[in-house]
This record gives sequence, C-alpha cells and structure tokens, in this order.
Amino acid sequence: MKKILILLGPPGAGKGTVGRNISSFYNLPLISSGDLLRDNVKNHTQLGEKAYFYIKKGELVPDEIVEDIIKERIGHEDCKNGFILDGFPRTLKQAEDLNKILMNNNKVIVIYLSASDHFLINRLSNRRICEKCGYIYHLINLPPKKDGICDKCGGRLIQREDDKSEVVKNRLDVYHSYTGPIIDYYKKNGNFYEISGEGELEDTLSEIKRILK
Ligand code: AMP
Repeated sequence: MKKILILLGPPGAGKGTVGRNISSFYNLPLISSGDLLRDNVKNHTQLGEKAYFYIKKGELVPDEIVEDIIKERIGHEDCKNGFILDGFPRTLKQAEDLNKILMNNNKVIVIYLSASDHFLINRLSNRRICEKCGYIYHLINLPPKKDGICDKCGGRLIQREDDKSEVVKNRLDVYHSYTGPIIDYYKKNGNFYEISGEGELEDTLSEIKRILK
C-alpha cells in the first residue's frame, strides 16, 4: 500500500516548505508540478516552451500537459512506497483523473494549508529562492545571512518571475476560481485536514506529523 500525501492550498501557503520537510522526515519523494514545469522551461523542452506561455502570466498550464508529467514522475522507482504531491491537483479534472490513476490500495491523505490573500501577497512578494538548491527564504521573516546568497549552498537567490506583484494577483484569482472548488471535492472524499498556513513552520509540521501517525 502506497502512502500518498496531497498538499493543497493557495500559492504561498507553504506547500513547498512543508513538503520538503515532510519528504525528508518520511523519506517520501516530493513531487511539485511547478518545479517539474520550471525544469522543463529551464531545459527548453517542447513542453517547457508551451508551459512558459501560461506560467509567466500566472495562469494554469493545460491539464493534459501537467497530468502527463505527473503520471510519468509517479511511475519512477522512488515512488513505489508513496509520494507527496505539491501543486497538483489544481483543477477538478486533475483531481478526478488522479483519483482514477491512484485507484484503491493506497492510503491518501489530503492536507489543506489555508491562508488569507493579504498574508499570501506579503509572503510571495518577499519570497526569494536559491536557484541552486531551491531553499526558500523570506526577506523579513527568514532572511539569508548574506544578502542574495543562500546560507545552505552559497547559490544565488532569485525572485520567481511569477512572484512579482502583477502576476501574484492573477495567480490568486486563478486559485480562487479553479483550485478552490477541489477543496469541497476532497472534503467529501475523506481523509481531509485543514491547517492554517499562517502559523509557525514548526507548529504546522508537528500538526501534520500528528495527522500522519
Ligand atoms: P507553483 O510552483 O505550484 O506555484 O506553480 C507555478 C505555476 O506552474 C502555476 O502558476 C501554473 O502556471 C503552473 N502549474 C503548476 N502546477 C500546475 C497544475 N497542477 N495545473 C496547472 N498549472 C500548474
């Protein structure tokens, strides 16, 4: 039986940070649809060229494209005991299709990290990411020791193009229109837990570990 954790929530709610911590704690791979898409953009694949058109505007990449990369990724050997999904599913169609792929015999837990738009705008506009190791900083709450440089690996810190304020607003609108409704879908389908994404990371993590026990 595979253990599958689905992290739901708006952009900036902390899915990536929480996912990384839980991933190393439980030794389950973290699969982020956003990271997989950005890798494709970086490597100039055909898929990446298509995806970039949507990502730069803060819009959703078409379901077929994202579903194909997720299906491919969860077929890898490291997913045989389970995995953690961050950023997928994001539409009702993705959620329904994922349900079909996973079928029975899996333990699926859904954690919804909630946060207000005001909180998210603040967090996203102050977010900086190490381009080398992906570690996430917040310029005010979790600043690097040296300006613009990652404490962990010395990589350069960058602001994601879609974390700029014009795009953030659109991402939140898209979230409310398309991803909000899947919360109800999972609420009805069991094993659903809502946690505030606005709390301290340590508290959020211990709450999740308690649920996963
Ligand atoms: P994220 O890193 O999860 O914030 O995703 C960054 C961007 O990638 C989003 O704004 C979308 O353009 C695209 N994206 C990521 N995951 C999905 C998904 N499941 N469905 C559609 N588009 C996605």
